[in-house]
Amino acid sequence: MITRRIAAASMTILMMTSLTLHAEERIKVLIIDGQNNHNWKATTPVMVRGFGDGKMFDVDVTTSPPRGQDMSGFAPDFAQYDAVVSNYNGDSWSPKTQQALIDYVNNGGGLVIVHAADNSFPNWKEYNEMIGLGGWGGRSEKSGPYVYFKDGSIVRDESKGPGGSHGPQHPFQVIIRDANHPITNGMPLAWMHAKDELYDSLRGPAVNMRVLATAFSPKSGRHEPMMMTIQYGDGRVFHTPMGHSDLSMKCVGFINTLQRGTEWAATGKVTAPIEQDFPSDNDVSIRDY
Ligand SMILES: [Zn+2]
Repeated sequence: MITRRIAAASMTILMMTSLTLHAEERIKVLIIDGQNNHNWKATTPVMVRGFGDGKMFDVDVTTSPPRGQDMSGFAPDFAQYDAVVSNYNGDSWSPKTQQALIDYVNNGGGLVIVHAADNSFPNWKEYNEMIGLGGWGGRSEKSGPYVYFKDGSIVRDESKGPGGSHGPQHPFQVIIRDANHPITNGMPLAWMHAKDELYDSLRGPAVNMRVLATAFSPKSGRHEPMMMTIQYGDGRVFHTPMGHSDLSMKCVGFINTLQRGTEWAATGKVTAPIEQDFPSDNDVSIRDY
């Protein structure tokens, strides 16, 4: 009897533990905004909504002081989160906050870089290693090579020139170049992204970087990286140069890749399904948020 009671009690404890674990399996995400040469007040809510549709995320938003204000007190507790999503392009963080992000990613934290977040911090060496490629802010051949896709493989082009450019906004086709990654596995191999700014000619260290998808830029005449992953220490980084405006972010392709990329950055795995309304190769698909 005693043994059975213990067994029953153990079962109860096991069930409680599994319930607790289940609750803890939700992915804790921190979105950073507050400064950007883009309308972060319009775009952050679209990402929050997109994560809500993913049903596996608990999302907090931290907003920095406005541009030009004292940044010394801006110190998010990155370590509390499974993934940090940057919608930030602005003033330098304090050395302490910079080190906290470096330590967080180095120790296995997930980082997600969205659009102009890759313009930020041109002179912060570790940040540029984390994001792989960046643009503007004086970036040049000193920042690292141009990276693009040509004749079936990735080219690292060391030629001189500025980093970061784009033409007028338009819908464009995203082509999956590496379907063997959890983020892109099972995804349509070509899909039409909603009207967006197609970044070209980004430059950076591009170390431990994997290009998962590209889009052809009429401006550069090259197949430009549109989804990248970077290994930094024990941490995983997902970088999407897409997401100029709230409209661009309402693209189901953007939302779904944000969900899958963030889950992967947080856990190394992807369980978020490919959405039913995912765009086809020729037609955009936009959420009515
Ligand atoms: Zn933009």
